[in-house]
Amino acid sequence: MPKLKIATIEGDGIGPEVTQAAVKVLETACGHDIFDFEMVPGGAGHYQKSGQVLPDETFTACRDMDAILHGAAGLPGVVYPDGTEVGNELHLQLRFRLDLYANVRPVKLLPGAVSPLRAFKDGGIDYVIIRENTEGLYASRGAGVVLRDEVATDTLMVTRKGTERVARFAFELSRARAGAPLDGKRRVTVCDKANILRSYAFFRSICDEVARDYEDVEIDYAYADAITVHLLKRPDFYDVIVAENMFGDIISDLGATTVGGMGISPSAEIGDKHALFQGAHGSAPDIAGQNLASPLATILSATMMLRWLADQRSAPALAEAGDRIDAAVTQVLADGETVPHDLGGSAKCTEMTDAICRALG
Ligand code: ATP
Repeated sequence: MPKLKIATIEGDGIGPEVTQAAVKVLETACGHDIFDFEMVPGGAGHYQKSGQVLPDETFTACRDMDAILHGAAGLPGVVYPDGTEVGNELHLQLRFRLDLYANVRPVKLLPGAVSPLRAFKDGGIDYVIIRENTEGLYASRGAGVVLRDEVATDTLMVTRKGTERVARFAFELSRARAGAPLDGKRRVTVCDKANILRSYAFFRSICDEVARDYEDVEIDYAYADAITVHLLKRPDFYDVIVAENMFGDIISDLGATTVGGMGISPSAEIGDKHALFQGAHGSAPDIAGQNLASPLATILSATMMLRWLADQRSAPALAEAGDRIDAAVTQVLADGETVPHDLGGSAKCTEMTDAICRALG
């Protein structure tokens, strides 16, 4: 197999540290002959220097290469005249232009990571949020209207095509999983506010239509406000949750907190042809450049990249490498000797990375 080209955008804040960690772990697991990591610029810092948050050559690399690996983007105070953050534009543009419609956010309690929900131990929380990534409220980014400094509007957009494909993605994923920890049932929960807005009622009705093709998967519904309670009280009930863009954004931060925080929560943004992998966290400027960041979220996102590439290329060895990295992360956390700062330990970013590389043997 020719080397796989990975468009690699380190970005801002802790982005470079966590990206370098993931590259090191990938090379330890797979050797040096599988990947070419092509470093390409982008982010708020690059915008300050060049006026471009996503330069054309970076977009072309992301479009033409085999996958995208990203650290994080965004710096406080680097904003457009309308007050919105420049850094977010990097992945928002990639989402829209490469049609990365399914944002996959696993929420899994690993051994060694302590949940603030005391009733739950490792394995007790294991669900995946599928956040619709190209529509919903965020689709109107840049097109909202502020009238006479008195009234502001943004439009929430839900389409049949956009909902159908993300719902199908969620049902397919549930089918491939082992069900919810509570009862082993394969279940897709539709998260919306169908009781309040037509757009959400439409979202739900399309999910219902798709569900008819998946009789082996239960369909379940939760209003976005109610699910914030359920995710704290009975997270083990959930298997796969599909949500409109903004709701998915909000509940995935909540879910991440129940399994140890943003530093351990991976994310993949997947379309029919392209995919981007980055931790669920932002650029964490408060700890940037101090070697304090946890690299786990980015490393676990890299294992999602391996599995996606394995499917795309029919290359099971890549998925096996992903399994080995996941096992190494689990082993390091379970040993409890090398624990990152955000999980209550003192291991630096490079120390966590080296421990995982050692566990890979
Ligand atoms: P964004 O809106 O860009 O997603 P954010 O404003 O939600 O970002 P983050 O940058 O994710 O915020 O940071 C939130 C908090 O989590 C900060 O206190 C940060 O230090 C911490 N944090 C985020 N990522 C990590 C990490 N990888 N390791 C340790 N702490 C982290």
